[in-house]
Amino acid sequence: MSRRPSGSPHIDDVHTRLPPQLRVFERDWLSANNVLLKSRNGHVLIDTGYSSHAPLTLALLASADGIGDEPLALIVNTHGHSDHVGGNAPLVRKYRCPIAFPANESDAVERWDHKALLYDYADQRVERFGVDRRIAAGASAIWGDLEWQALAAPGHDMGALVYYNPAHRILISGDALWRNGFGFVMPRAMAPDALPATRGTLDLIASLAVDVVIPGHGAPFIDIDAALATAYARLSAFEADDERTARHALKVVLTFHLLDCREMALSALPGYVDSVGIYRDINAAVLKLSASDLARMLVRELARAGALRRTGESIAAM
Ligand SMILES: [Zn+2]
Repeated sequence: MSRRPSGSPHIDDVHTRLPPQLRVFERDWLSANNVLLKSRNGHVLIDTGYSSHAPLTLALLASADGIGDEPLALIVNTHGHSDHVGGNAPLVRKYRCPIAFPANESDAVERWDHKALLYDYADQRVERFGVDRRIAAGASAIWGDLEWQALAAPGHDMGALVYYNPAHRILISGDALWRNGFGFVMPRAMAPDALPATRGTLDLIASLAVDVVIPGHGAPFIDIDAALATAYARLSAFEADDERTARHALKVVLTFHLLDCREMALSALPGYVDSVGIYRDINAAVLKLSASDLARMLVRELARAGALRRTGESIAAM
């Protein structure tokens, strides 16, 4: 549950394995990492962070480490969650570039399905954007003079893609695989396909020849086997206990909210979890607690994990 990006002891090794035209802007847990692929044929940015961090995303991109005052040719997303697409609309306003988006989730964006995309439904904000190109699983594209294969990576997000470059054995994994786990998965009682899909996605990643993973959150890493072992162990625990899956999902969503709002009154939490769809639905389907018991459980478990602090009558993310 730590929201600090996990540092890799092999960080120097990692960067020597990345081709020079590939630049990772490592962000935090509210904003996903941004991957810049530079080329004379047009610069491409994969994932754009959370909406409230868009000024920083724009500044990083326009820095000397980014593209300076050159144009951006294309935005690509791994999936539609708010921490990966929040800079899409502001970047399009500045660069007038198209957005390429996973095909299986493009309809949800076109109809702005806040429940499927976990926006208002999870009390997360995203400025509306449109999809210009749909990326089908199995398609290939040249970004940054490198060939990237788009591979279906359902589970945490059923429409997600990961992007794989076989020549350099690099995987841009979004929230499908992190150094220490993967993005939360909906409990079986609400999304029966999500956990089996997560297993299939880990199996797919395990079958690839990968030297470097560039995750959606945390530093790029090379110890893929260790990350997969951690991910499989976590997945098995979720498969064995739907309540655990449910609690974990809600703890992640609440931590995200606390990072977003910085602080909230403890007394407001029962009303909050009773009014925001994802808490209400997961609680009704799996946990079946009163709103005040749900709030108490979330605070207790997040505090125990070191992810939340209580000061007087307010709570905040660590
Ligand atoms: Zn996600």
